[in-house]
Amino acid sequence: MGDPKDFQFNLPAEAKPAAHPLREKIHPAAWAAAPDCTSARPEAPASAIRAIVIHATAGASTAGAVSVMVAHRASFHWLVADENEAAHGDFVWASAPERRAAWHVRNNCSHPEVYDGARRVNDWSLGVEIVNAQSGGDGFSDWQLRATAQIIRYAWAKYPNLAHVVSHARFDPARRTDPGENFPWEKFAALTLAGLR
Ligand SMILES: [Zn+2]
Repeated sequence: MGDPKDFQFNLPAEAKPAAHPLREKIHPAAWAAAPDCTSARPEAPASAIRAIVIHATAGASTAGAVSVMVAHRASFHWLVADENEAAHGDFVWASAPERRAAWHVRNNCSHPEVYDGARRVNDWSLGVEIVNAQSGGDGFSDWQLRATAQIIRYAWAKYPNLAHVVSHARFDPARRTDPGENFPWEKFAALTLAGLR
């Protein structure tokens, strides 16, 4: 399936979609925790957002991912439910306000092909967590891929400078492998860009 630390595609400016809807619902517990595990963005989000970072939880449930927000002061903007959860097939969870910087990539991480190697990725990115065990036979469902692609399209239409879609592993290859080698990156990229170029 490929090496997660190579997972990146860029969003061609000429293909940017018009305003794109997103079926999302606020996750009450995550939203309540967000003020304590996010920070103000130094630059206004309308211009600041340059990248979306794709994560997988290495866990079994949405509730587990939300408990990590509280216990480890980590955060992300959206959470994509697993196959056995009610939200699957219906909507994605909004887990932190887009205007806030979520804490999903270490501040000393960077990659030369993403926003010219800038650090403090959280300040200029959005984070998506997909619920997946990241082990053995736990594949990603077609809906998880489509829902994540819809998040990208929604954000792409909304943020003028959004240009990069990238894995967590690409920024932090020594510590992280997510979204994992089971994640079909090329298929996901094709879904995101389908019909736009
Ligand atoms: Zn991650």
